[in-house]
Amino acid sequence: MSTSFYTPIEDIPQIHKRAHDAYRSGKLKSIAYRKEQIAQLGYLLKDNEQRFCDALKLDLGRPVQDTIFFDFAAVYVEVKMAYDNIEKWTRSQRAEFSFNFFAMGPRLRSEPKGVILGIAPFNVPVFMLLSPLAGAIAGGNAMVLKPSEQTPATAQLLAELIPKYLDRDLFHVINGGVPETTKVLELKWDHILYTGNGRVGRIVARAAAEHLTPLTLELGGKNPVVVDPKCDVQMAARRILWGRVSNAGQICLSPEYVLVPEHFQDKFVEALQEVYKSFYPDGPRNSDSYCRIVSEAHTKRIKNLIDQTKGTIVFGGDADIAERYIAPTVMRDVRLDDPLMGEEVFGPVLSIVPVKDVDEAINIINERDHPLAVYVFSQDKAFLNKVFDNTESGSAIANETVISCGVPGIPMGGLGESGYGYYTGKHMFDEFTHIRVSLNNPGWVDKIAFGFRFPPYKPEGEKQLRALSSSLPPRPTSKQQAVNGKRWGLWLAVLLAGASWTVLTEPGRALVKQLKF
Ligand code: NAD
Repeated sequence: MSTSFYTPIEDIPQIHKRAHDAYRSGKLKSIAYRKEQIAQLGYLLKDNEQRFCDALKLDLGRPVQDTIFFDFAAVYVEVKMAYDNIEKWTRSQRAEFSFNFFAMGPRLRSEPKGVILGIAPFNVPVFMLLSPLAGAIAGGNAMVLKPSEQTPATAQLLAELIPKYLDRDLFHVINGGVPETTKVLELKWDHILYTGNGRVGRIVARAAAEHLTPLTLELGGKNPVVVDPKCDVQMAARRILWGRVSNAGQICLSPEYVLVPEHFQDKFVEALQEVYKSFYPDGPRNSDSYCRIVSEAHTKRIKNLIDQTKGTIVFGGDADIAERYIAPTVMRDVRLDDPLMGEEVFGPVLSIVPVKDVDEAINIINERDHPLAVYVFSQDKAFLNKVFDNTESGSAIANETVISCGVPGIPMGGLGESGYGYYTGKHMFDEFTHIRVSLNNPGWVDKIAFGFRFPPYKPEGEKQLRALSSSLPPRPTSKQQAVNGKRWGLWLAVLLAGASWTVLTEPGRALVKQLKF
């Protein structure tokens, strides 16, 4: 791989300084300037769509439709949302009303953190860099982007276009591999957004900790699918296989393995075979609708997993390392200790794991690291709720795969091994801003309320302070008190009923007479 486009390591501290100086110049305090830059970002992509399609064809063998769907559309959504909402997002807000403090006018305002560092992976390189950039600008931040060295054509194109379309002092691209990124991470940033695998995520987290830099980690994992045998099997097979083969499985939200009841495996496999034929009538290798793996090293890694599996190939399994091609592959009867069930495959291999029932499926999910998504295919609400209520993940998606990352208003984000923090839209803006609180206390407040706080302290001051303190919610009753309370209530009800019977009814009065009360 050519490294001629890498940023010289000695230039990196200069770029860092330029971005900080530009941020401190205060240019981005103007909302109008932020809006101009956000719009420019949209046109950077719009004017150069063909060049990005060509770059992604070189880097990933990407079909144009996948590029439009996964990279362009998602960026346009982010640009438009940031542009349309920036006034609302940045408006200062009154704090919740408090009788004691309202005169001070307490307010909250989202202010920029400073210079954001964004380190991106190879799989959807345009979306992974430009959508956070929209959020960073909306928040009033400068940003330095570090594209993946595994997608060199896209990385070079970004390095060429960012200074052409955006403010040259505020926004920068640093290109390079491990040595360059290591240098970048030695420097102090005001926030780091890292998207990629968990091994490097730990390196980034350690570097961020050195400077107490806040961090968003968007990591990966193995996303499970639970299939209800009563589901619409054709629809399930179509959406699951689409999610697995899009971008040749190199999507963080791609479904990795499917938990199906043993008795349903044959029917599900038949449906997958039909869908596979309809997707690639002339085979996937020559199809214009099928992508390549990012590098020979990753192609070999995935092929090794296929060769080591004890599962049975339903279709696919073949590979061409030099062409970075792995056929869309479905494996059935995959056991939990299979190599395919270890690390994240991040390739077009779908494993089917037969289970006894939904409880076993839930246990399998819970015994593993938290995934970015849990998918369930079922028309039965009780089945969906059972799986979602008893598992944990970044997202809980019914009857769909992958598509959730493009839905405006819902963020992407992981849990545990799949990361922390949120991505896209207002949530991205929130990651890149901090809430600065303010108040302004008029002098007369001391005369009528808070004068007691100044020494020397007097007994009236303590009284006033107690009067100003918030009251507490009702004291919770202990379980035993609650049980005793219920028993007393029951006895009282019995007593009242007995008294009413003896006083108000004929047989009651007769009984009283007989007993000569
Ligand atoms: P990658 O190899 O492109 O690496 C990601 C970034 O880390 C690159 O910019 C690279 O230069 C940098 N890097 C690599 N080694 C480094 C080191 N030693 N020190 C510092 N920086 C280093 O991509 P990847 O990590 O293989 O990406 C795929 C992973 O990303 C998958 O696990 C996928 O699930 C995950 N992912 C997550 C999301 C999400 O939103 N949660 C989105 C996309 C991808």
